[in-house]
Amino acid sequence: MKTCELLVIGGGPAGLSAAIEAAEAGVKVLVIDANEKAGGQLFKQIHKFFGSSMHRAGVRGIDIGRELLEKCEKLGVEIWLDSLAIGIYDNLRVAVDRKTSFNTHEMILVEPKKLVIATGASENAVRFPGWTLPGVMGAGAAQTMINFHRVLPGRKVLTIGSGNVGLIVSYQLMQAGAEIEGIVEAQPKINGYAVHASKLTREGIPIYTGYTVLEAHGTERVNEAVIAKVNPDWSTIPGTEKTIEVDTIAIAAGLKN
Ligand SMILES: Cc1cc2nc3c(=O)[nH]c(=O)nc-3n(C[C@H](O)[C@H](O)[C@H](O)COP(=O)(O)OP(=O)(O)OC[C@H]3O[C@@H](n4cnc5c(N)ncnc54)[C@H](O)[C@@H]3O)c2cc1C
Repeated sequence: MKTCELLVIGGGPAGLSAAIEAAEAGVKVLVIDANEKAGGQLFKQIHKFFGSSMHRAGVRGIDIGRELLEKCEKLGVEIWLDSLAIGIYDNLRVAVDRKTSFNTHEMILVEPKKLVIATGASENAVRFPGWTLPGVMGAGAAQTMINFHRVLPGRKVLTIGSGNVGLIVSYQLMQAGAEIEGIVEAQPKINGYAVHASKLTREGIPIYTGYTVLEAHGTERVNEAVIAKVNPDWSTIPGTEKTIEVDTIAIAAGLKN
């Protein structure tokens, strides 16, 4: 059993920032993260952040990540990696499944005085016939593959969703060597910032506003997507179907907690 003053579950920007605030106030903090590196989504965000200056607009996610980790180190925040919180019990006791240096797992009970849970969000799915085929994935997964693991998920990509995440991940996939066959957006206009959309349209990438994905086809993996125009109530308009040859569909339809 390990005791500590504050346990933070999740070493993304929220968890690390909470740890820094607490450590600056003199609290002894332990952060645990399920991944092999702390920083959450930050180390796959090679782009300059959008949003307000309070949200570090203009700074690359990887730089924010480095900065937060350096601060944690200076303040003596303890960070356990490969450590998954699997249950919270009476008296705030947290069961942690931690990978050892021998690549085995040990179970450790941590009993903190206070607990912060900062485990992030998950991506919304979009369901359509064929959505479970290999090659259909969240945009976050595609971004993790290219920017973290240096693996191209496919060569011909269709993105669902024209918010900033959909636009940025499409651009990064293109930079990594994929062809972006198009971006479909059910709303009548592009949802993300013009600055991100223009980078794609300048390259001739079509953004199909007022369209949705009807279905994906394939056997071993996805090999084509059928898209169609939608009415304002998102019902599809028969006769407007287009078939696009793809091997990857990246879904960027928002996040949920
Ligand atoms: C493609 C993309 C682009 C984005 N671009 C921007 C941008 O430009 N500007 C901006 O402000 N935001 C951007 N965001 C959003 C931003 O990444 C998130 O808002 C931010 O990462 C949320 O921080 P977080 O700490 O809450 O969660 P996360 O960064 O997701 O961190 C959560 C951490 O918790 C860990 N964890 C989860 N469950 C457990 C468990 N049971 N035990 C231990 N650890 C656990 C995970 O491993 C992870 O490291 C983008 C998101 C995406 C997907």
